[in-house]
Parts: sequence; C-alpha cells; structure tokens
Amino acid sequence: MPSVRPDAPADGPLLDTFGRVARDLRVSVTDRCNLRCTYCMPAEGLPWLPKPQMLTDAELVRLVGILVGLGVRQVRLTGGEPLLRRSLVDVVAGIAALTPRPMIAMTTNGVGLDRLAAPLAAAGLDRVNVSLDTIDRDEFVALTRRDRLADVEAGLKAAADAGLAPVKVNAVAMRGVNDGDVADLLSWCIDRGYELRFIEQMPLDAQHTWRAGAMVTADEIEQRLTERFTLTPVAGRGSAPAERFLVDGGPASVGIIASVSRPFCGECDRVRLTADGQLRNCLFANSEANLRDPLRAGATDAEIVAVIRAEMWRKGAGHGIGTPGFHQPDRPMSAIGG
Ligand code: SAM
Ligand code: SF4
Repeated sequence: MPSVRPDAPADGPLLDTFGRVARDLRVSVTDRCNLRCTYCMPAEGLPWLPKPQMLTDAELVRLVGILVGLGVRQVRLTGGEPLLRRSLVDVVAGIAALTPRPMIAMTTNGVGLDRLAAPLAAAGLDRVNVSLDTIDRDEFVALTRRDRLADVEAGLKAAADAGLAPVKVNAVAMRGVNDGDVADLLSWCIDRGYELRFIEQMPLDAQHTWRAGAMVTADEIEQRLTERFTLTPVAGRGSAPAERFLVDGGPASVGIIASVSRPFCGECDRVRLTADGQLRNCLFANSEANLRDPLRAGATDAEIVAVIRAEMWRKGAGHGIGTPGFHQPDRPMSAIGG
C-alpha cells in the first residue's frame, strides 16, 4: 500500500514534511539585469517578464506580509538586479512597515548602489550582499561582459558609508578565469572591512553550461586561500550555509558555501517569491504555486495562506545535484531570485 501523505497543517509555522520551518524569504523584484555574468545569463540577455505579469508594489508587499504572518523573519530582495526596479525604495519602505518588522536584506551586483544605498537604508534596508567575483578589471569584463568594476567598487563604499553593515561580498570562482585570484579578492575585502563569501557555481544558468567536473569546489577555494592565509574554522555554524574561517587569527573572516559539494538542504529555512508572483519552495523546485492570479481574482489572505502551505508541504528533501534524477529547473537563477 502506498503511504498517504497527510495534508499540510492548517496553522502553526510554515512547515514541510521533513520538519523544516521556512523563516527566510527571497523575493525577486525583477528578472532584468544590467550585467551578463557568464554563469548566469547568455550575452544577449533573456526574454524579460512583461510588466503586466509582474507583481505591483502593493501586491508584492501584501504577499510578503502574508508570509511574515506565517513566520518569515528575514526578507532578502534579489533578482535579476533588484536596483533596476524603479520603485525599490518604496518596496523596502512597505516591507519595513509590516508587523512584526522582518530583517530586510538585499543581494545586488552593486551597479547604481552608490546613488541608492543611502535612500534604501533610510527606507529600512538593514544589510546588503554585493556580488563581486574579481577586482581585476579584465577578469571582471570577462565574467560579467560589462566594464562596470568601478561602479561596483563605488557601490560597496556607499553601502558601508550608509551603515549597511556588515557589508558582505559574494563571489563565484570560475575555472581559468578568476580562480587563481581568490586570495587577492580576500585581501582586498579585508582591507576595506567587507566580509567575503565564496559560493560554488550551481547548475542554474539559462544556457545549461554547468558541468560538475569544471566547478571550482569549496575545498579548492580553501586550499588556494591557505596558500596565503591561515584559516581557522569558526565553531557554531548552526543552520548557516557558510562555513566560516577566521583569517590569520581574526577578527577578519571568510565564508565558503559548498552548496553543491556539501549541501545543507537538511537545514534549509528558505522560501522564494518570483517577480511574477510564483511561490517556490526551493531554488531547484520543479513546481511553483501561482499566488498572483488568485490575488488578482480577489482571494482572501486565508485562501492565499492555504496555497502557500500546500506548496511548502511539497518541498523535496534536497536539490539532488549530481544524482541521476536531477533536473535543472526551467527558470534560470536570474528569474528565480538567487
Ligand atoms: N543581480 C544580483 C547579484 O548578482 O547579486 C542578484 C541576483 S544574482 C542571481 C544572486 C547571486 O547569485 C549572485 O551572488 C550571483 O553571483 C549568484 N549566482 C548567479 N548564478 C549563479 C550560479 N550559477 N551558481 C552560483 N551562484 C550564482
Ligand atoms: Fe545579473 Fe546577478 Fe545574474 Fe550577474 S548574477 S547576470 S548580476 S542577475
């Protein structure tokens, strides 16, 4: 007899069948981008979502509010490039006005952050992660297909000046491009007080070019960093995905996120909302729950909560990258929200 899965609980925290509770919401506020990172997008870009399909500010804030009511305590704005959403400051202010007020963070490529860091902080943004893979201008151009390194550096400085501390830098190492320079990037970040975290490249690019054997692993990054620095593991990682190391005894530290080679799916507390109002229980989910259409058809909060609970109840045990059944999601990272 096949076992019958019980229905999702009607109240309490936002649970899945493995007992994990969703508390960290990633919201993609746009799928558009002004860079073309090779591990993310093709050179020509992607067919962007038509505006009418995207959530309005009021719709987005209402859905975030419903999720906050279900126990979400951290909201991270991402994309695409979140700074390209013209109303981003208003979106942040709307989320900051929710009760209880969630912690509000953003992941950005930093282009345009020099102008926007202060107004975003004033609207309620608490923290920022800026993606920067190299401080070598030629490598930056090779990786992002745009000559915008100076803009990113200015954005980082503005974030620190606006008090969006600790400013974190996210980097992906690509074999034969920037993997030889990871120690330079760490020195540069330490000198400026930014916290660097390396993330393994995942199979989420629109072009489907990811290959397991070509990925620069967390172990390789650690090895390269130890050629220049003494790394001491920091205890008490808890459910955080980054393994943290003190650099040369501290206080500076570096994080390494082995999302592929040492997955942390068992501790996952994430849920995602796309710019067109689809709820995803995982970056790698092959299903989505459409929240936008019921919302536009006049659904009550209770009806939307039922759709959200049912989708979280479908969450799988893990991403399964490298297993025979693995299927890369149809949406690329830029349209899911990284
Ligand atoms: N445009 C913003 C940015 O670059 O920070 C936000 C969206 S981007 C999709 C979010 C993060 O995902 C970035 O740090 C980026 O480096 C990372 N990312 C994109 N594609 C990836 C991939 N295939 N594997 C691992 N990380 C990836
Ligand atoms: Fe744009 Fe971010 Fe993707 Fe780079 S990683 S192309 S900045 S969405």
